[in-house]
Amino acid sequence: MTQHPLPLERPRLFIAVRRGVPLTLAAALMVLAVMEPAGLGWPRGWLVLGAMACLGEVWPTFKTGRTYARARTAIQRWDAGWVWALRPLFRRIGMEEAWILSFCAWNNQKVRGLFRDAKARRALVLLPHCIQMARCKADVLTDLSSCYECGLCPVGDFLPLHLNRTWDTRISNRSHKAYREARAFRPDLIVAVSCTDRLFKGLVKLPEVPCYVIPLQLPHRMCVDTTFSVPHLLAAMETLVEPREAERVVPLRREGIA
Ligand code: SF4
Repeated sequence: MTQHPLPLERPRLFIAVRRGVPLTLAAALMVLAVMEPAGLGWPRGWLVLGAMACLGEVWPTFKTGRTYARARTAIQRWDAGWVWALRPLFRRIGMEEAWILSFCAWNNQKVRGLFRDAKARRALVLLPHCIQMARCKADVLTDLSSCYECGLCPVGDFLPLHLNRTWDTRISNRSHKAYREARAFRPDLIVAVSCTDRLFKGLVKLPEVPCYVIPLQLPHRMCVDTTFSVPHLLAAMETLVEPREAERVVPLRREGIA
């Protein structure tokens, strides 16, 4: 089977802020502790303690391998807290989306590390309903295979992969339904496609499940005829998920109805 390479993740913005702020604060406190300016009146011990606390705060971002895996849920919650706290600031300077996407890239990098040696065995693909062309009448919400593969939206490109590779997939029109179904399925990995805001909410709501996220493209507007990179999803599944033995036969194509 041909392996499609996963694109590089670019978490530079998130990691610069997430590590840069506490490290700068720790350095400033240490400098103050060494200088101990008389005017400040802060005991040196407290300054050193503050610097140590800053270093302790940033330390989880350097964890890898099993150490990271054991503490992953708590780390994910804490990192998401940073995103949430600084979101208004980045919105104000017009970089909200870049900030969240950078966190998503950091999350993806960590998820890739988790499944580098042992691939996921029970993965779930979550797709938003808005990838279906708005005027299409195929009831893909109830049954994905009711798509006619007319080629007018990404559902038709995704369906043969879903069928051939026996991926467990949910397509959903409500975030809370997607979370509920994901919890019920108990996956060891989620590969989710959604808009930036929903991806962030998903990472916050389900911190206990590693989730590789792929952002939607919005060529028209929010929630209407959206699209995404099917090759990116395929690469994620090939890289992170153990392939299944059985491959189902792809059904015959029907004539397009969209
Ligand atoms: S029938 Fe065409 S428009 Fe409708 S979901 Fe399938 S590919 Fe998309």
